[in-house]
Amino acid sequence: MAHVDQKIEGMYQEVLKRNPGETEFHQAVLEVLESLGPVVSKHPQFLERKIIQRICEPERQIIFRVPWQDDKGEVQINRGFRVEFNSSLGPYKGGLRFHPSVYLGIIKFLGFEQCFKNSLTGLPIGGGKGGSDFDPKGKSDDEVMRFCQSFMTELYRHIGEHTDVPAGDIGVGGREIGYMFGQYKRITNRYEPGVLTGKGLTWGGSLVRTEATGYGATFFVNEMLKARKDSFAGKTCLVSGSGNVAIYTIEKIHQLGGKCVACSDSNGVIYDEKGLDLDLIKQIKEVERRRVSDYAKTHKHAKYIAGGNIWDIPCQVAMPSATQNEINGKDAVTLVKNGCIAVGEGANMPTTPEGVKVFLDAKIAYGPGKATNAGGVATSALEMQQNAGRDSWTFEYTEKKLEDIMVNIHSNCFETAEEYGAPGNYVIGANICGFIKIANAMVAHGLV
Ligand code: GLU
Repeated sequence: MAHVDQKIEGMYQEVLKRNPGETEFHQAVLEVLESLGPVVSKHPQFLERKIIQRICEPERQIIFRVPWQDDKGEVQINRGFRVEFNSSLGPYKGGLRFHPSVYLGIIKFLGFEQCFKNSLTGLPIGGGKGGSDFDPKGKSDDEVMRFCQSFMTELYRHIGEHTDVPAGDIGVGGREIGYMFGQYKRITNRYEPGVLTGKGLTWGGSLVRTEATGYGATFFVNEMLKARKDSFAGKTCLVSGSGNVAIYTIEKIHQLGGKCVACSDSNGVIYDEKGLDLDLIKQIKEVERRRVSDYAKTHKHAKYIAGGNIWDIPCQVAMPSATQNEINGKDAVTLVKNGCIAVGEGANMPTTPEGVKVFLDAKIAYGPGKATNAGGVATSALEMQQNAGRDSWTFEYTEKKLEDIMVNIHSNCFETAEEYGAPGNYVIGANICGFIKIANAMVAHGLV
């Protein structure tokens, strides 16, 4: 453990021992603990109150059976999770992920990251995460509905506007939130919009929530570029993935004058050197729920690279927006060698520790997910504000609030990195800035 401060090393070993086999969780914890040496030297009360040990232990973990029937009438069983990580800054807040790779270690890494991300937004939200190993791919609408209803039939007793407020993540979008909201309302006999975010616009949702993660990530990268007296204008960009985060990242990049030439899904990469036709991608992904390979059927000049690696394509700005650990050390070397000057993470923990080291050593602008993609959850908090006030704001007003939040997160991370002697290192800036706010609240609340 060469990088973890001596005072903290034992705590990391304890996390490994207490959470065997949860490799993504270990990775997320290590990445934060590596930044905290100078913080505990400056604030000895954090050590006395065992804040780090407490932050690494979720306040509550719920695991449950989700039985449902498929269209053939056959019984299916999945596993559901909700990890309520930390409520010192507000009710637990974080998405639900439906993906076959989901197990406790994934939900805990996401929940842990969420605490610091939510702290960085400056809004009153704690951290949590949930989901299931259910695979929505290839399922009918009715199957998705029956699954969501069964999932909520257990989850409803654990959540609430002042307790825990789930939202979407991979595999959970407007459709799934709708089915879950309907079931919550039916079971509880309460129309309680503040219990979930990412709702439809006619029943309590917020404008800009759909766009927020992608727009926010692009605003953040724009700030990193500005800090280097640069901009998106004329930059060739790569955005991995083709879900909600990727689509609205591409949209904002184009609005800011950049050119996004490639995106991807788990089967392959689509490369369009003229710049991606976003209307077509939206049609394929949001309306038809199909694969990106269809893009090349309409645009013959575009290349579909089955099983390809998007990071092999030369670019100046890379925005990984698919999933965890999608950029490894070798990909990072390729990106830097090909002239990449900025990386902004739309996904959660998309770069492996080896990759992060490459970016930091090369001193390119590297925005870690917990700062860069915080716009999604921040706009969820704006949705909660509107629900609490029985109000709904305009697109322009809400987008401006999102932009201000991202500008603030950027300057807080930037300044914290300088204060702790690591100028330009947004990893250290984000970790320290996110941690201190939670730690101070935990000290204030006593031993709970
Ligand atoms: N899943 C998103 C994230 O990773 C959003 C969570 C939310 O809106 O609560 O931050």
